Amino acid sequence: MKLSTNNIDKLAWEKMNGLLPAIVQNANSAQILMQGYMNVEALQQTLTTGKVTFFSRAKKRLWMKGESSGHTLELVEATSDCDDDAILILAKPNGPTCHTGTVSCWYDSPLADVTFLSALEELIASRKSDAPESSYTASLYQQGIKQIAQKVGEEGVETALAAVAGDTAELKNEAADLLYHLMVLLQASDTSMAEVITVLKGRHTGAHAS
Ligand code: AMP
Ligand code: ZN
Ligand code: ZN
Ligand code: ZN
Repeated sequence: MKLSTNNIDKLAWEKMNGLLPAIVQNANSAQILMQGYMNVEALQQTLTTGKVTFFSRAKKRLWMKGESSGHTLELVEATSDCDDDAILILAKPNGPTCHTGTVSCWYDSPLADVTFLSALEELIASRKSDAPESSYTASLYQQGIKQIAQKVGEEGVETALAAVAGDTAELKNEAADLLYHLMVLLQASDTSMAEVITVLKGRHTGAHAS
């Protein structure tokens, strides 16, 4: 169930001796960031302040993630599982979540590759705003949307030609060029991949499980 300050007491606190595992997932990319434990007070504080807060078993006190590092987790949504003994937190991280400096406590997991496009999208966005001299992406933004749109057209044609020629190595290269330039174009138009995926999902009626 979706958690709010009104239904906290419905969770299986007694069965779990007052501490529920809480998994934190990036609300945009779905990457798993970390896992901690929450007691009633930690969940209450998370829901009221919007900053993800755990009960630290080591410190034996409430611990707002980022309280010393500044790498806080902004709450988007909290839900409980089927039998209300585990919590899933969707959050937007301010900086790396792991205290070792990596984005996720499981950063090296092969599943993290699934979220690579999201990481790339964030990098592309930062090239647009920071515009470092040496960056090809930044130079594309300086050339303007018509140039970027033309690159997408060219890479699309190159991708199609490679596929028709049966050159799979070239196809992969050109498809990568196309995806990258498409992401730059979307960003130039202030449109996110998430919005495009929402359109795809909207068309995907019935047939397969999503
Ligand atoms: P922070 O909450 O980011 O200010 O970090 C304070 C302390 O909490 C760190 O020095 C670590 O001991 C611990 N810590 C921070 N992030 C994590 C994490 N993702 N998993 C486990 N422990 C953490
Ligand atoms: Zn459960
Ligand atoms: Zn960690
Ligand atoms: Zn190309």
